[in-house]
Amino acid sequence: MSASLRRLAVLIAVLAFLPLAPAQAAPPELPDQIAAAWAKDPLYVDPAMLPAFPQSELDRIKAASSAAGFPVFIALLPRTPYLRQENLDLPTLLQARIGKPGLYLVWTVWDEYWSGTDEFVRPGGLKGRSLVSVQLDDTLDNKIVKDRPAPRIVRTIQQAGTAYDGRPLPEIAASDLEVETPRRTGLSTTDKEDRSVFVGMGIGALLGFVLVLTLVLRRRNRPAPVKRGQVTPVSSIRTQADRWIPKAGRALRALEKQKNPTTLQLDLRDDANARLEAARTLRASDNDDTLALAGAFVLARQAFQVASSNDLLPPCFFDPTHPSGTVRAAWSDDTEVPACRTCAKTVAGGKTPRGLLVRKKSGLLGREMVAYWTLDPEDSPMVATGFGALSDDLAERVTRVYGGVR
Ligand SMILES: [Zn+2]
Repeated sequence: MSASLRRLAVLIAVLAFLPLAPAQAAPPELPDQIAAAWAKDPLYVDPAMLPAFPQSELDRIKAASSAAGFPVFIALLPRTPYLRQENLDLPTLLQARIGKPGLYLVWTVWDEYWSGTDEFVRPGGLKGRSLVSVQLDDTLDNKIVKDRPAPRIVRTIQQAGTAYDGRPLPEIAASDLEVETPRRTGLSTTDKEDRSVFVGMGIGALLGFVLVLTLVLRRRNRPAPVKRGQVTPVSSIRTQADRWIPKAGRALRALEKQKNPTTLQLDLRDDANARLEAARTLRASDNDDTLALAGAFVLARQAFQVASSNDLLPPCFFDPTHPSGTVRAAWSDDTEVPACRTCAKTVAGGKTPRGLLVRKKSGLLGREMVAYWTLDPEDSPMVATGFGALSDDLAERVTRVYGGVR
């Protein structure tokens, strides 16, 4: 028997033992599964988690949901690899399946750490504030305990209520807040240096903050070695900028076409216009400068936010190419910066995110990659303002430094 015939014989023998049809139909895709369950009960708990789930947590969540005054759909799930995908937006997928306005919450747990994503679709259209803007104003939001789901879910429902009809945000129960004790014992030397300088500093003195931060972080003598794959390629930042500048331009033109614009619309138009002009100025200034291209991207994205929905968001302080800074991250006890959810999580774990890396000329030969905030703020409006995350005047500063004409 030839080798290929023998393989065929083996294959046939194997097939003979396989059942004709799969024993079970493949489980429906997770979003379909949740959407089907929500038709019966808007609070879905993963079946594997349900037996051990504390009833008191579920009761609290249910009470807050029914008091909301709008539909609230919640899914509580273990964090599987499927849910860890970078670009998965489960609340939006689920909202599309349900098709109703309301608050959509997907909360996952991993290692006793609960985190969630939300999507709020207002009943009755675009009234009220965005949920994110309420969350940014809610100063204690980031201090709510994460070792059980109810406290932050209940808070999110309350924040959505405020966004919806302006009702005041209730106080947060002390038992829902983290106890203010040092999270770790073994602080590294650099961490101790950082902390000692941060003590007693408030976010109020923004420029002072940046200067001190810069001085402190620049003094780190042994920066962690940076691997090639960790650096965001300049080309990808350039692509982002080139995608968002025309997008913002289109949104702005649509706004300009409005007949009989309201004062608010006129203000939005001017604001979006200033940001977009500054973005174009930065984009035209240098084709290979990470700071300028990232600044162009941030300003264009903000111009789009302002022109399309009056929903301006700060960038993630640590890396402006990340999703917008929708969470306040307590970098130290007295310093909070806007951060994306991923960086906020890193900060909550007591670490500093790697941040946007830029090339720093050091000495005659060496060129190392460093976090952008360690550069001299006097040399760049992007560094001085944390790309607008620390003070929202990046567009004005860019115009001052780079000139306003394209
Ligand atoms: Zn980030």
